[in-house]
Amino acid sequence: MAIEEQALQGRMAEIRHKLLVLSGKGGVGKSTVAANLASSLARAGKRVGLLDIDVHGPSIPKLMGLEDRGVQIGGEEIIPVKVSDNLSVMSIGFLLSSGKDPVIWRGPRKYHLIRQFLKDVVWGQLDYLVVDSPPGTGDEPLSVAQLVGSPAGAVIVTTPQDVAIADVRRCVSFCNTLSLPIVGILENMSGFVCPKCGERTDLFKRGGGMALALEMDVPFLGQVPIDVEVVMTGDSGRPLPSEGPLSPAAKAFSDVVDSILAHTE
Ligand code: ADP
Repeated sequence: MAIEEQALQGRMAEIRHKLLVLSGKGGVGKSTVAANLASSLARAGKRVGLLDIDVHGPSIPKLMGLEDRGVQIGGEEIIPVKVSDNLSVMSIGFLLSSGKDPVIWRGPRKYHLIRQFLKDVVWGQLDYLVVDSPPGTGDEPLSVAQLVGSPAGAVIVTTPQDVAIADVRRCVSFCNTLSLPIVGILENMSGFVCPKCGERTDLFKRGGGMALALEMDVPFLGQVPIDVEVVMTGDSGRPLPSEGPLSPAAKAFSDVVDSILAHTE
């Protein structure tokens, strides 16, 4: 076996579970889910790494409040940014010289970058590596699904309306083709409850993700409503709270994390 391949397998063998956060299309809250999932798992006492491989639009530095941070690179090793004792973050965004310039890379270059990230980032022993992939079923999710080895599972994020659901079908088929187990489908932006009058409005309809999970025989992880707290915490680089009086989204998200823990542990 080539030395590089051995090094990659050795690194991946130190990680108990790899969770690939996927979505059929952009803007459904995939990165928000990845950031909150990593933070919640760390708060539950797990050793967690969060890896952002969205070459064209890395959001994790902003969502985790790490925009000004760089990483240390020594020889072939990359030291991720430590958020706390048991949560480390690595993003392609830490390596780009300017957040304003687009990255114009073809598939093979992206494959090599992802491979290098998986092989060279020094996570140490982890319980979970949460990977935020770009939306769709292109080069990046394909590369990461092929490279991480097992055990790995996909968390598929969608919004409830038909136009998003059509793309989730492709995402489920993608996982099936790659024999990547699906941890479950999460329906995000599922209804909005007015904080003033309490009336519920289903802006993007409701139940589409749940119906699809049933139809495709995939576990359903829950419905997270539209909630201004998600936007505020995301924009200010903080995770959703997990204690005290919880907002509707924080409560729903905490149930989703419990399901993921139950599924994987
Ligand atoms: P993606 O990674 O799928 O492109 P993001 O995670 O970047 O999506 O989220 C897109 C926007 O939607 C962000 O501004 C985020 O704060 C917002 N958002 C995500 N989920 C929710 C939610 N449940 N309620 C309100 N806003 C949300």
